[in-house]
Amino acid sequence: MTEGFTIRQANSRIIATIDGLPAGGQTGARPFIIPVFIPMSGCPHRCAFCNQTAITGVKPHAISPSAVTRAIDTYLPFVRDRGRSVQIAFYGGNFLGLPEQHLHDLLAIATAHVTCGDVTSIRFSTRPDTITESRLAAIRDFPVHTIELGVQSMDDRVLAHANRGHNAQCTVNAARMVASAGYALGLQMMTGLPGDTPRSALRTARELVSLAPDFVRIYPTLVLRQSRLAEAFRTGMYLPASLHETIAIVSRLFLVFAAAHIPVIRMGLQADEALAAPGAILAGPYHPAFGERVHSHLFYRLAEAALAQAPRGAHALNIRVHPRHLSRMIGTSRENLTRLKAYFHLENLSIQADTGVTPHHLEVDIAPPPIALN
Ligand code: SF4
Repeated sequence: MTEGFTIRQANSRIIATIDGLPAGGQTGARPFIIPVFIPMSGCPHRCAFCNQTAITGVKPHAISPSAVTRAIDTYLPFVRDRGRSVQIAFYGGNFLGLPEQHLHDLLAIATAHVTCGDVTSIRFSTRPDTITESRLAAIRDFPVHTIELGVQSMDDRVLAHANRGHNAQCTVNAARMVASAGYALGLQMMTGLPGDTPRSALRTARELVSLAPDFVRIYPTLVLRQSRLAEAFRTGMYLPASLHETIAIVSRLFLVFAAAHIPVIRMGLQADEALAAPGAILAGPYHPAFGERVHSHLFYRLAEAALAQAPRGAHALNIRVHPRHLSRMIGTSRENLTRLKAYFHLENLSIQADTGVTPHHLEVDIAPPPIALN
């Protein structure tokens, strides 16, 4: 058995699955999100890797309650499915770190939109060290459904290099408080921060699993302009991970969460105009479809694990996947197919779509060598 995958043989077929992944995938019925960016508002200081303006294109300013209404008016017409839940999301800063009155004003206007039925509930992201009993008490009477914690790492050395200003134990305490107060808990982790290694990233993932979040997000570290990391990069003190290395480690992290039935709702920063603007990203493993690249790599590894079980000398192998996953399996520019053929020295390897195959599974048909006739 290969870690994260289950491979079994039935007659002349090999069936390979990703452990813990439901047939429908991890996405489930996701809420429609109306984002309200509060770039670096409420932050006690700037973390080494952060420049929210480069990510969102929004300059730091105190967001007004009327901006919440404007965001709702802008996004609401795009909700096609009237039965889908809609959440106002305060992102890009440290929501619970906002001054008390400002926090109250934003929650009050968001609540008014919940009361009139425009939206279903509120979510926000915040730092672990702003989760206290008194801060949670301050939001208790508002319809907040989900709280996301920017964890980044569970390695205290990595947190110190990133100038986070809190340690891993703080995250453990915060996660427990959020969950026991009845909120849905999201945890965000990063890879490739200064001092981070694949081993410490995997340890972080396992420790996050033990906190039983409702979902996680994984963000590879990018060197954003005007961040402290940009300075370290310029002086050669920090070298970002390559795209290839990052896809490999994020795939392994995905498997850790999948095996624990924890949805990974995002891998990589959302591609948008601000990020794509020249000079926004100085270096780092950015790809506009990063999550897709990770899924494609997972299919490569799943196929590799399955083909390793094929009998030597098999004449022809045919991989079948659900039609939804055909392009992931083949890979960009047929990369996966080419690599598999080269790795296993296979002339006759094909990939086919088959509606009979469960999504996130693959099946390999094995044709035995032809019988030589004299
Ligand atoms: S990473 Fe989060 S807490 Fe740190 S400066 Fe950026 S928005 Fe603030």
